[in-house]
Amino acid sequence: MKHNILEICYLIGSVTFIMGLKMMGNAKTARKGNMVGALGMTIAILGTIFLHEGEVSGMIYGLIFGAIALGTIIGWMTAKKVQMTKMPELVSMFNGMGGACAALISLIEFNHYYHSEFPKVVLNAAITGAYHPPYGFLIAVFAGLVIGSISFSGSVIAFLKLNGTMDKPIRLPAYNIVNLVVLIITFGLLAFMVYSGGIILTNDLQPSGIMIYALLALALIYGILFTIPIGGADMPVVISLLNSFTGLAAAFGGFLYDNKVMLTGGILVGSAGTLLTVIMCKAMNRSLGSVIFGAFGGSTAAAGGPDVKGSIKDIQVSDLAVLMNYSKKVVIVPGYGLAVAQAQHVIHELELLLEERGVEVKYAIHPVAGRMPGHMNVLLAESNVSYDKLVEMDDINPEFEQTDVVLIVGANDVVNPAAKTDPSSPIYGMPILEVDRAKNIIVNKRSMSAGYAGIDNLLFYDPKCSMFFGDAKKALTELVAELKTME
Ligand code: NDP
Repeated sequence: MKHNILEICYLIGSVTFIMGLKMMGNAKTARKGNMVGALGMTIAILGTIFLHEGEVSGMIYGLIFGAIALGTIIGWMTAKKVQMTKMPELVSMFNGMGGACAALISLIEFNHYYHSEFPKVVLNAAITGAYHPPYGFLIAVFAGLVIGSISFSGSVIAFLKLNGTMDKPIRLPAYNIVNLVVLIITFGLLAFMVYSGGIILTNDLQPSGIMIYALLALALIYGILFTIPIGGADMPVVISLLNSFTGLAAAFGGFLYDNKVMLTGGILVGSAGTLLTVIMCKAMNRSLGSVIFGAFGGSTAAAGGPDVKGSIKDIQVSDLAVLMNYSKKVVIVPGYGLAVAQAQHVIHELELLLEERGVEVKYAIHPVAGRMPGHMNVLLAESNVSYDKLVEMDDINPEFEQTDVVLIVGANDVVNPAAKTDPSSPIYGMPILEVDRAKNIIVNKRSMSAGYAGIDNLLFYDPKCSMFFGDAKKALTELVAELKTME
């Protein structure tokens, strides 16, 4: 009876995950989708705790609920306090925690299997080769350990890169070969452990689990080696790839426990991460192989950087207000700086003001603008910008020719023409918003500093381009105020 109710809890959990994911595909229902998924997860967790077969002591319940309370408080407070611009770091840290959990499950279950549940006689038989633990169990344990550990250490490096602690890619000599060798050794050891049962006898004939710790160390090292050479502009792909690894590792955990909701959840995360990786690669016109093995997205110094010629001109707020007031069509290009300045509300105010004056306003959304997939969509949804005003890159590019003013707010790499014209540029090949086709280009940023990829932008020297310097929130507030004074 208990078992049947538990199965129903898992079924509810799995269905709500799928429904929640579907709802998250649309900005209007995303918040509700998150709640639906969380509700399903709560039912599955409570079901597992209270309907599990076998006796559980009061102390174990205390530990479980103590850990849940601690995790909830830390998670809640961190998520509440985090600024929008720091979300990608938080996401990569949460992702790393998922990977670490999967790796710990593998470690614990391996030791549990050999040291407590397994009768000593069978253990000896296993060591001498007379008995072999189930291959499925061993594959799930070791694969979960390796993938979870790679995801954990890789996510920690991604976190350090995103928060600026590691601001330059680290490329060791012959790093591709070194990485490949470490990867081959890791999977070679994994295969050997599945074949041999994973334990060895020490000199005094005691079973030793040293191999599993060697496998753990190798996987952690590979996670670091794999992520450190990847440069700034490729981070979106790496984050979604690591996310899919965590899902896969969790799915192995589900297989290990024969837990259907864990399996479904892991597969959903794994496949969503994989799909996102493919979309991100496509958005940057990169193959996954070239992201992992290529030296893409490195520093300008390494790439040479564009040869900057010409001068820039700036525009005063009054002139810009006049220009926008008399335009027919304005396209706003939001970027990372908009999120930094928290200017999403004032930009919506500007949009409404222009529309009142008969100006058509759209937002051009580049798939890797900001610091996380969908960053601009989330940011603009926060200030109630209508979702149908957000136009994807491929759809907006042909419209720039009929655009009177393109207003770039805190965006840089996603409008950098070097991606199309300079084969030596680290972002060469990435599709961009082709803003130079518009009649007037206005760029709002605080200085001439580079964006995430660390390279100069020749767009700022385009004769059609004027710089509107200042913090986005402050500058746009002034622009709105100026527009309000005009008839
Ligand atoms: P960029 O990082 O290229 O440029 C942002 C610009 O914003 C900077 O040049 C900065 O210039 C300006 N800025 C910063 N603060 C402010 C402010 N307060 N007010 C006004 N401007 C400000 O951003 P993009 O969105 O164009 O490109 C995203 C980049 O991030 C790409 O290279 C992408 O690959 C990478 N990335 C994307 C991820 C994703 O999933 N979307 C994840 C990780 C990386 P200044 O200092 O002069 O003001």
